Order: sequence, then structure tokens, then C-alpha cells
Amino acid sequence: MRAVEFTGDVVFRDDYADPRPARGEVVVEVIRAGVCRTDLEIVRGYMNFRGVLGHEFVGRVAAGPARWRGKRVVAEINCVCGRCGMCRSGLRNHCRERTVLGIHGRDGVFADKVAVPIGNLHEVPDGLSDDEAVMVEPLAAAFQLVRQVRFERGQKVVVLGDGTLGQLIARVVHRICPSLVLVGKHSEKLELAEKVHIQTAEVGDFVPRQDADVVVDATGAASGLALACRAVRPRGTIVLKSTYAGGEPVDLSSLVINEVTLIGSRCGPFADALNALARHEVDVTNLVSRHMSVENAIEALELAARSDVVKVILDMACGR
Ligand SMILES: [Zn+2]
Ligand SMILES: [Zn+2]
Repeated sequence: MRAVEFTGDVVFRDDYADPRPARGEVVVEVIRAGVCRTDLEIVRGYMNFRGVLGHEFVGRVAAGPARWRGKRVVAEINCVCGRCGMCRSGLRNHCRERTVLGIHGRDGVFADKVAVPIGNLHEVPDGLSDDEAVMVEPLAAAFQLVRQVRFERGQKVVVLGDGTLGQLIARVVHRICPSLVLVGKHSEKLELAEKVHIQTAEVGDFVPRQDADVVVDATGAASGLALACRAVRPRGTIVLKSTYAGGEPVDLSSLVINEVTLIGSRCGPFADALNALARHEVDVTNLVSRHMSVENAIEALELAARSDVVKVILDMACGR
């Protein structure tokens, strides 16, 4: 099958072995897959991953139990043991034995087919487009924030980073806190948020005043935390969404002096994301910049790294 493998270099192959599903897994034929900032970080060395890249996707179950065969699905990316202390206490995303699609110890979705555990599947309602379904994984990560932080109307919220995750977080939290401001470096991207009535500021014009109740760092860079430290109020909250390879150390003294709460936040509830899309509560489709074929994955990764591009989607039907 066709696959985009990371071996230390990104390599497109048309002779990659089909996935062999383990017990309790199904084979999903990938329809579309999203290129994520995390994929770019992996190529730079993040997680020391080797194998098929990609974790954001929608597909159709090709082989598995009759209940699932032929269904259009998305899948949670953490593949868990079900036995360790974290799994038994309900924190399955923190399974100590986990593998993660296209990120850690398991082939990902930039391929014609991928094997995933049945327990990770969510059926996609007919009303959702393939592009909306591809956005479920990052949108779920945005919804995780609402599970971790109690947002209240009237709170001053700043989201740093105008990439996909920052944009999705702004869209989700803006429904609760309408005065939210999305801060970014790229006017083309900020315009996408303005189209859905979110206030924005270019980072050069944004003056941090230690007055925000909640600051979310989705910049994907260490400089985001440094700016968040200057924007958050005393006793306020910083939520970190950035993961990256390497990066400059940040002086954290202000967090001590100002008694700031620091929250790490990763994957989130797929059901919340699917429900919000089905009810048209969050608009995600204006974030899709380009569709490309899997054969052009190297070019797609380069494009996704460009400052004026938000989401690049690999359309597996091209050339199949
Ligand atoms: Zn992602
Ligand atoms: Zn476990």
C-alpha cells in the first residue's frame, strides 16, 4: 500500500506492507488525513518516532466485526492496555503502556490503511463532511480545555497561536467567553478567526499587561509560555498546549511570584467534538487551506510549515 514513512527522512512508498490488525483491532481504509504541527515536530525529532506518520483522519472500516464494517469512522489516537493503574482509574489517555498513532510506537494514518483498536472508534454522523471529520481529533484537544478549566462569561481569555489548535481553541472557548482575544503572527490566519467573530491581535501589537484570567499557549514554541507569563494576572491560569522538539528555557519565577496555576493539556473527548460539529456549534471548514494527494506528502508537509497555511489535508482518493 501507499504510505508516508519517517525513517529519519520522510519517504513516500507504494510498497509498504498492509497493517496486520492485532486482536481487538480493525483495519480502516483512510479517506482523508490532516497534516498537524505535531507531524512537523516529529520530522524535527520530537518523540524520536519511526514509522508511518499522521494521526488525524477519517476512514471507512475495511475489515473487522460486522457491527463496524463499512462504517465511516474517526479514531482516538491513544491505544491503551486497559490494565495499568492509569487505565483502571479511568485515565486511559495516560495509559503507561500506550502507543499513539503516528507518534509513538505505532504506524499512523498517512497510508491507504491503518490498524486501530475497536475501542478507539467513533462513527461519524452522515451530516458531517470528510474535512469536518478530519478536524475531530484537534477539535477534541480544544474541548479538553473546557474539561480542565472552568471558563465563565466575562473572563478575560487570551489564546496565543493562530495555527489550527489555537484557532479551534478560540472557537470553542469564544462561545463561553465572547471577549476572548486570539493573538497570532499571521494576518491571513487571524482573518479566518475574525470571519467567525473572534477578536484578534497581531503579536507585535499585543501588549501583555498581566491582566488575563486565562492564557492558553498554542504557539508550538517555548516563546509562547514566556509571553503567557507576562499576560496572565496574579492567581490566573496558563494552559499549555504546545509540544515541540527542543526549545529555549523559560524563566518561570513570575509563576511563583504571581501564584499562577499552570495546566498541561493534551488529547480530548471525541464525543464532545463530534456533537459540536453535528450541531454546527463550531465552524472548522474555513481552516482547510489545501487538499493534496498522498504521493505529494513531502510537499504537503513543507506547505503545512508555511506561515500563511493552516490545515493541509491529504486526500487518499487522489491516485487510488
Ligand atoms: Zn494533531
Ligand atoms: Zn494502560
